Amino acid sequence: MRSDKRGIGVKREFLSLLILIVAFVCSGGGSYLKACQHCPKSESVTIKSDLTSTNLTTTPTPAYKHLMAIEFNTPKLNPKDQVYIASLDVPSEYKKLFVETQYHLNDVIGGYMNFNQIIYRKSGSNVDAQPVFDRLIAIKYSGYEDGYTVQEVQDRASCLTGSDPGGWGTKRTNPHSICIMDYEFLLDPHQVVSIGGTSALQAKLTIVDGIAHEYFHHFQRAHALDRGLDYQYGHSSVGAPTWWIEGAASLFNRLWTLQEYSNISELKGLQEEQVTQLINLPEHYTIFLKQVQGVISWDDRGIDADWYLSQSDERYDTMTPNCDVMLVAAYLAHLTSYQTLWIDIPQDYYELGFKGSFEKNTGMTLQAFYDCFNGFMHSRDPNESPPVGFFPTEPINTYADFWRIRSE
Ligand SMILES: [Zn+2]
Repeated sequence: MRSDKRGIGVKREFLSLLILIVAFVCSGGGSYLKACQHCPKSESVTIKSDLTSTNLTTTPTPAYKHLMAIEFNTPKLNPKDQVYIASLDVPSEYKKLFVETQYHLNDVIGGYMNFNQIIYRKSGSNVDAQPVFDRLIAIKYSGYEDGYTVQEVQDRASCLTGSDPGGWGTKRTNPHSICIMDYEFLLDPHQVVSIGGTSALQAKLTIVDGIAHEYFHHFQRAHALDRGLDYQYGHSSVGAPTWWIEGAASLFNRLWTLQEYSNISELKGLQEEQVTQLINLPEHYTIFLKQVQGVISWDDRGIDADWYLSQSDERYDTMTPNCDVMLVAAYLAHLTSYQTLWIDIPQDYYELGFKGSFEKNTGMTLQAFYDCFNGFMHSRDPNESPPVGFFPTEPINTYADFWRIRSE
């Protein structure tokens, strides 16, 4: 996302999570809902719609009709325009890494059209970067009118950004998600090698994990259709809060990477301990509890002991710095289900707005959920392991069926 906190989060993990611990093994569902005195009883919750714009069910916009006609939000095995484009001086092993990662992502979440992975070399020549320029011009990315130089691509690079060569909101709209990274970043993502001291294989694992994160954002965007995902798209957007956008994505990329890394040939040889060194979900849980309860303090790298999840965490520009919102998402899944967190909510947010969809699918208002989360985090034993099922270890498709989603 434009204001992605992921880089900060990953760096923090490396600086602070380099302690190996035995992986927590969990299974089954388990629900805190029954025991949570902070949670509202479902029958007492008033369901209300967030819709403030056009009545979408009776007067579909031309943009909406076009997006439905091109099946923009329909998961497929081989969707149109999922591309990997790199400068000529980027080693071909990365093409293999990206293409394989996309293949396995499509298998679990479904393939969504118009996802562009662009790799250039900061120290490379304009001649070698021509394929990158050609692609960015074709999809009318910012600054396409007079072409690009490597420096201009660097100035405009972002993961994740976007374009719409058909014209956003028009009857020819054709939104693209674009992840632009430089080759130098691939070698040492978030300084995992230079500061974290990890291996080249672990750097590649970090890249794979990052692709999964950004692709999940593409999935979130696809189901917002022409409304747009959050406040950055204006008042008619579905209004998804930042804690959900980033939390649901961060939780997905980690669970997916743990599941799939051994299927990616460019990661062959990676040991389980090396993966755990980078992705240790139970440790996230324990550290978060300790921070919230003031047992440990990391100054500017953590959250304050008196922090409470609130409305301010619904926007990038007011969100609590360094807050591990993955835990917020995991708690919502624990309270409801992963199917609710990842699939049911986005399935309904085009029609109902995020708030309406949240209330319909969870039986809670957002504020009731915040109260419940805060009550949970401040009342648990700070030394405990995550509750059973908090981070599932079964294959994702056994507890969350992404292929079933139908938003309209
Ligand atoms: Zn993100």
